[in-house]
Amino acid sequence: MEIRYKSTRSNGETVTASQAILKGLAEDGGLFVPTAIPELGVSLEEISKMNYRETAYQVMKQFLTDFTEEELKNCIDRAYDEKFDTKEIAPLTEKDGAYYLELFHGATIAFKDMALSILPHLLTTSAKKNQVKNQIVILTATSGDTGKAALAGFADVEGTSIIVFYPKNGVSRIQERQMVTQKGANTSVVGITGNFDDAQSGVKAMFNNKELAKAMDKKGYQFSSANSINIGRLVPQVVYYVYSYTRLLAQGAVKKDEKVNFVVPTGNFGNILAAFYAKNMGVPVNKLVCASNDNKVLYDFFETGVYDKNREFILTSSPSMDILISSNLERLIYKIAGEDAEKTADMMASLAGDGKYSITDEMKKEMKDFVGGWAGEEKTAAEIKRVYDKAGYVMDTHTAVASAVYQEYKAKTGDTAKTVIASTASPYKFAESVMAAIDGKYKGMDDFALIDELSKVSGTKIPNAVEEIRSAAVLHSRVCETGKMQETVEEILGLA
Ligand SMILES: *Cc1c(COP(=O)(O)O)cnc(C)c1O
Repeated sequence: MEIRYKSTRSNGETVTASQAILKGLAEDGGLFVPTAIPELGVSLEEISKMNYRETAYQVMKQFLTDFTEEELKNCIDRAYDEKFDTKEIAPLTEKDGAYYLELFHGATIAFKDMALSILPHLLTTSAKKNQVKNQIVILTATSGDTGKAALAGFADVEGTSIIVFYPKNGVSRIQERQMVTQKGANTSVVGITGNFDDAQSGVKAMFNNKELAKAMDKKGYQFSSANSINIGRLVPQVVYYVYSYTRLLAQGAVKKDEKVNFVVPTGNFGNILAAFYAKNMGVPVNKLVCASNDNKVLYDFFETGVYDKNREFILTSSPSMDILISSNLERLIYKIAGEDAEKTADMMASLAGDGKYSITDEMKKEMKDFVGGWAGEEKTAAEIKRVYDKAGYVMDTHTAVASAVYQEYKAKTGDTAKTVIASTASPYKFAESVMAAIDGKYKGMDDFALIDELSKVSGTKIPNAVEEIRSAAVLHSRVCETGKMQETVEEILGLA
């Protein structure tokens, strides 16, 4: 069956998967959703005998129906290779009665690698399929994790170049080092004197600048986005839910048709939406537990049916979840509104205008697969320590939010279903908070001294991604004022 993609905000024309990947966002500002969520063409038992790449092919071919077998396999082979430090790609580790699905074994040790290592290949393949001759310039604003994962994904990918803007004084030292040491002739990293919002606004303004687009086209360039709303990022994330379930099946930890819970530390709602798609493809799911940190706008939404971003933005030790507008939620809203584009558009307009919207009781009933939970800073730190003391396992702050929420959920409901917790970052990436949670004596220690200590207490090898930046040369030192972002891009591309 051919799957096409339509906008969540109008009933206009549908596009092919490759066109949706190239466009990123629909022209009306909506998100692309598949005309139907496809079923897995093979049984879960059969998939349980497949490796990660084979599983990826089975899942992704159902969504990306205009890719040939050769094209898709080629993308998968280039993405899930030795960049990952384990053959399993996404290993499942049982600790203290829960299964941690480790999604941080890629190049930048965060789960963004799962999608951003394949997106460049999906994008260049899509460009070829649609006779796009221009070089694709990826323009990204980052508050830390996405920038590095996108740089690593696009570095030296033919037919592309990437420019990343980050707030010069607004990312962690490790995050900055990761970015400014990035290799690849087609990569540029620029610090700006403003904050993340300034970077984001500057990038949006360039995307919407028609004259700039014309000048770029003349020189053989066009912009594209590696943003998390691209279906080229969503579809690869469905894979590891199918993969983890089938590993449990292979181990005999679950029987055929036995339902499991997935607990996901959530920010933009992309990762957990992929779990929802996996359920709709046929993975037996009991509950999808959406875990938030202090920025608990999603928890409140699941409780009350009101989404309200009018609140203080709280900086936490799980910064990748410090988000008040969860963009991918729009795809769930569309689904529970009975695929009513007009209704969805109205709600998104009210979010843009008043910063809030509410759903009907009927829609709320359609969300019964989901449970919301949240954990503040103290609970998160206590969970890191609890699991370390009990099982010797060290998890990062984002994973700890999910783990703490799961403990509370289990105590409250008595639910005994097997549970998979999405583990979204390596503890090495957030060593400062992680080590302080384990023992107060680590407070104030130097970054790399902490990393050595973390290796000792966890008995794990320091990941290459961390070892590399210890001694790597700084290759990017460009800094620009917030108002000069476009000039900087013109200079980098030689347009000026
Ligand atoms: C991006 C990110 C998240 C949030 O994922 P969403 O898909 O935005 O919900 C959680 N943890 C880490 C470490 C991340 O980088």
